[in-house]
This record gives sequence, structure tokens and C-alpha cells, in this order.
Amino acid sequence: MGLAQQILIVDLDVHQGDGTAFIFQDDPSVFTFSMHCEINFPGTKQTSDLDVALPEGMEDDAYLQCLANYLPDLLTQVDPDLVLYDAGVDPHLGDRLGKLALTDTGLYRREMQVLSTCIDQGYPVACVIGGGYADDLNALVYRHSLLHRAASEVYCQQRL
Ligand SMILES: [Zn+2]
Repeated sequence: MGLAQQILIVDLDVHQGDGTAFIFQDDPSVFTFSMHCEINFPGTKQTSDLDVALPEGMEDDAYLQCLANYLPDLLTQVDPDLVLYDAGVDPHLGDRLGKLALTDTGLYRREMQVLSTCIDQGYPVACVIGGGYADDLNALVYRHSLLHRAASEVYCQQRL
């Protein structure tokens, strides 16, 4: 008990992390960060500790630059004992509900960026797969596998 006194939730599902934002709205021990498509569900957003609303159709480089603008400073500011990362794959170009335009390569770069940034700054990170709505099940499974591929790569690179 009490080993993790400050949590940072990094929610990159294309839909706002409205559930965690609501649940932890009065709990300063959990900082909620959501980066999502501004015109996407839910129509009425909750208020996260930090919300970054992205314009429809954003592509890999702009998305990754935006993430780079926030995540390193956020880690320093929150100084969490643990990061919980929701790696939703619905920002993908081919997603039925996404409205953003990331490629498979962009998703892989995102997972590498999140994991490397956390580890480089000394923060442990636990990940969950999330969101993803595609008719092609094999393509969807592949997108989810990118998180595991990136985690494996970072694990080897960092000699963890
Ligand atoms: Zn979603």
C-alpha cells in the first residue's frame, strides 16, 4: 500500500478519456492527460487535468510533434511514481471512428516515443491496448501488436 502516491494517466485513444477524467476529477493523486480528436465522441467532454484537442485529419508528424510538446514537460511537472498509458489505436487513418490519420508507422513511432520518453526520464510505465474499430481484424490486431513490438524494442535498447 502507498507505493504509488502519484499516478499519471496518458490517454492517447482518439476519444477523450472522459471516464478517468470524471472518476479522478477531485483526486490530485491521479493526473489525467488526454490527447484526442476535438470533434470526436464524446460530444460533451469532461475536464481532464490536461486536455489536448486535435483537429480532424491530423497526420503522423504533426501528431508526434504535438505529443513531444507536452509529454516530457508533463512528466517533469507531475513526477509520477507510475505512468499508465492507454495506447488506443483508433487515431489510425483506416479507423471507422477515428477521424485522425495516423499510419501504422506513425502508431509505432508513437509507442516508441511514449515508452522511450518515460524510461529516459526514469518513470516506470504500464500500458494497455485500447480503442480500434476496423473491419479488417488482422489489420487491427497488427496495430495493437505495435505497442508490444515497441515495448520489446525499448526493453532491449535500455537493457532493462
Ligand atoms: Zn476510442
